[in-house]
Amino acid sequence: MTEGFDADRKMQFLFTLRSRGVKDNRVLGAMEKVDRGRFIRGIFSERAYEDMPLPIACGQTISQPSVVGLMTQALNVQPRDKVLEVGTGSGYQAAVLSHLARRVYTVDRHPRLAREAKTLFEDIGLVNITTFAADGSHGLPDHAPFERILVTAAAEDPPGPLLAQLKTGGIMVLPVGQSDTVQSLIRVRRHETGFDYEELRPVRFVPLVEGMGKES
Ligand code: SAH
Repeated sequence: MTEGFDADRKMQFLFTLRSRGVKDNRVLGAMEKVDRGRFIRGIFSERAYEDMPLPIACGQTISQPSVVGLMTQALNVQPRDKVLEVGTGSGYQAAVLSHLARRVYTVDRHPRLAREAKTLFEDIGLVNITTFAADGSHGLPDHAPFERILVTAAAEDPPGPLLAQLKTGGIMVLPVGQSDTVQSLIRVRRHETGFDYEELRPVRFVPLVEGMGKES
């Protein structure tokens, strides 16, 4: 059992984030508010405050905290933004975004992960997150466009529907590349006339898979 996000653990956690390049105070402030221990169950929960990815249900992973911080920082979320996250997983990244954005829509292809994250958001009082069980590679056309889109599973290329649902002036951050080789984190900006692509750093994510996951 974890002893929770006490002051000592929190200080160490924030120190590690800073030392790995998470410098944005708004992002650090949001991560300070979210106890990662709530998003991990079973034997791995005692490692919740270490900077490593950990297994969650349905064969998926909760991302490494410094990667969550760097992706959130690259997204440059503004207080009035409506953000789409593809790949809810444990819900941790969505919880961090919820402290920075007006509204967060998060979607996972595994109904169980979406269901458990939704319950957790309710338990910890994060009322500006809406959770969907769906194939997020199609985005959420009913709620588009989005000022920001974050994808936390790797596709070979940025999915067309997500590019289409990004508002002009908007930013999308996502890992791209083959699933079992090194992928690149990229940032896409939408302008009046097209898209700009920028490569940020190598990363390793589970693959973005089309269709729904089987119920478990
Ligand atoms: N952001 C998560 C980590 C995500 S792991 C966290 O903070 O814990 C990647 C997640 O993407 C997995 O839960 C996986 O089920 C989901 N995923 C993969 N392909 C998807 C798709 N097409 N649509 C929605 N979710 C998808």
